[in-house]
Amino acid sequence: MAHQWQGLINEYRERLPFKESDLVVTLYEGGTPLVPAPALSARVDAEVYVKVEGANPTGSFKDRGMTTAISQVKQTDTKIVAAASTGNTSASASAYAVAAGLESAVILPAGKIAMGKLAQAIVHGAKLVAVDGNFDDCLRITRELTDKYPVALVNSVNPYRLQGQKTAAFEIVDQLGDAPDIHVLPVGNAGNISAYWMGYNEYAGKKVSYSMGDSALNLPPVSTKVPQMWGVQAWNSAPFVLGAPVENPETIATAIRIGNPASWDYAVAARDDSGGWIDRVTDEQILEAQAILAAEVGVFVEPASAASIAGLLKAGEAGKVPAGAKIVCTVTGNGLKDTATALENRELDLDPIAPTLDAAVSLLGL
Ligand SMILES: *Cc1c(COP(=O)(O)O)cnc(C)c1O
Repeated sequence: MAHQWQGLINEYRERLPFKESDLVVTLYEGGTPLVPAPALSARVDAEVYVKVEGANPTGSFKDRGMTTAISQVKQTDTKIVAAASTGNTSASASAYAVAAGLESAVILPAGKIAMGKLAQAIVHGAKLVAVDGNFDDCLRITRELTDKYPVALVNSVNPYRLQGQKTAAFEIVDQLGDAPDIHVLPVGNAGNISAYWMGYNEYAGKKVSYSMGDSALNLPPVSTKVPQMWGVQAWNSAPFVLGAPVENPETIATAIRIGNPASWDYAVAARDDSGGWIDRVTDEQILEAQAILAAEVGVFVEPASAASIAGLLKAGEAGKVPAGAKIVCTVTGNGLKDTATALENRELDLDPIAPTLDAAVSLLGL
């Protein structure tokens, strides 16, 4: 019988802060496709793969951190979880809260959430709080709220989130047989780049400062190296590139529209200790990369996810991609979450034809 994926805690429990006897809350997240992308490989003269995190149960990588964070909350007496969100965290937190039998509250920047993500929070029964402010304001409010009331914080400042998210690096090494040379991903609040860096290090038998417990070091190393970490931000939401928080971050890539990243020090360590860099790309470059990935690879991602592809293509044009390097780009969320942005600049010619084969053939030019 073929092995059926059991959710990431069950698959990687010996490397996570859960005992064999701990019950876990899972929607069977993780185990996402690592897809070879020959069209991208040709463009940058390397061997490029995309890690398709939009294939997770709620359509983004946030599910990886939510199975661990909500499983931990479930072991306590707390009955409500809360998260500040640009959209995907709210979709994931509310879905996992349902699976756990908990209530969820999500704190969102008003008017800056893609409709698909808002729909998810609504159908999963989250209590919605729309704030006249940006994500950074929402996170500040959520931190104060969860400090003062019996409500558990499930943003990525909750250390269990990064524990779950690090498993994406494990999956990549398990599939490729060793770590890639370079890992490229979008950077917003910077939890994910920190989580990948932890995962790659633990699989190589090394520990970073925020590793939890010693489980990672009691096991034999799986990989022989760690990759360079390349982070990509949106042009007007690029605090790491500018070296300071950004007051009013703006970008169509709402999932990385963040001016004051919570995991600042971890992300800087990932960048510097890996010999990598963090760059920025324009909204135009993001939309172009989104279109290329959809039309030439067959993977439809949301704008924030396309930032990693845009960053890779930009690096390729600048001659910064080593020939033949093995490169993994994380594409963080599903394109179906934000169809409005994907269709914005497209001509849609959907005038109906007569219901005949001839009319269809003539329209198709066959
Ligand atoms: C959350 C999110 C990001 C940013 O990840 P961080 O850990 O905040 O850096 C990027 N893309 C998508 C689709 C996301 O949901």
